[in-house]
Amino acid sequence: MKLVMLGTGAPPPTVEKNGPSNGIISGEKLFLIDAGRNVATQAVRAGFPVDQIDNIVFTHFHSDHYTGFGEFFISRWIMGAKEPLKVFGPAPIVEIVKRMLLYYEYDIDLRVNEGKSRVGTQIDVEVVSSGDTFSVNNVEISAVKGTNHGNVDDILSYKFHRNNKTIVIASDGSPTNQLLPFSKDADILVMHACVPELIQGRFGGNSETARIVASHHATFKEIGEIATNAKVKKLVFSHVVPPLAPDARVIEGISEYFSGEIIAGKDQMVL
Ligand SMILES: [Zn+2]
Repeated sequence: MKLVMLGTGAPPPTVEKNGPSNGIISGEKLFLIDAGRNVATQAVRAGFPVDQIDNIVFTHFHSDHYTGFGEFFISRWIMGAKEPLKVFGPAPIVEIVKRMLLYYEYDIDLRVNEGKSRVGTQIDVEVVSSGDTFSVNNVEISAVKGTNHGNVDDILSYKFHRNNKTIVIASDGSPTNQLLPFSKDADILVMHACVPELIQGRFGGNSETARIVASHHATFKEIGEIATNAKVKKLVFSHVVPPLAPDARVIEGISEYFSGEIIAGKDQMVL
C-alpha cells in the first residue's frame, strides 16, 4: 500500500499545486481521498486511467475538496467505466451526489441518445460516521472525527491499514482528542498546516476573514505535538494555507515541536 499525493494545493488556483486530493494505491488499484481541482488529470499522470478508479472517500465538503468530483465522474464514464462509482463520506454526500448528477444530466442524456450505455453513471453512496470501519481494495479503513474545522460538523479523518503499514490522513482543522489515539504509531501522518502571518492582508485586506480562515486550520504546535505524542514515523504536510507558503517556513515551525522526519508534500509524490 502506498500513498500518492495527487494535489497539495488549496482553494486559490496555482500553477504549482492542484486541489487537495490523495490516492491510496493497493495492488494494481488506486482509490481517491477527496477530489480537488484536476484530480482526474492527476490520477492519469500517476498512471491510473480514470475508468479504472471505482472508489472515492471524502473527508468533508468544503468545495476545494470536491471541485474535481464532477469532472472525474463524467470523464470516468466517457472513458468507459462499466462499474458503478462507489463514494464514501460524511452525511452531506447524499445531497452532493444528487446535485452533481443533476448538473451532468443533460450531457448524459445527449450521449445515451447517441447509443452510449448509461451503465457507469450509477453512483453508490455510503454515508460514513465517526467510528465506522469499511474496506476498499483490500485496505482496511477506519474513520473518526479527528479535527474541528470551523463550522463543518460533518468531517472525518481516515486511517488506512494493509500489510503492517498504516497511513493516517487527518482532515482539515485542529486536532480533536480522538486524533492522537487514532494516529498512534502510524507510518505516515498527513496533516495540513496554516501560516497565519502569510494570510493577513489577503481577502481584500479583511483581517477578520483572515482570522476566521486561520482559526479553521491546525497550528504548527498542534501538528508537531500530535506527531510527537503519537510517535509517527513520517509527518507529511500538504494543503497548506496559503498554498505557496515556503516549505522551509512550515518545516521550521513544526520542528519546534517534532524532531522526527517532516516531509513537504508535493503533487505526485509517492510514499
Ligand atoms: Zn475544509
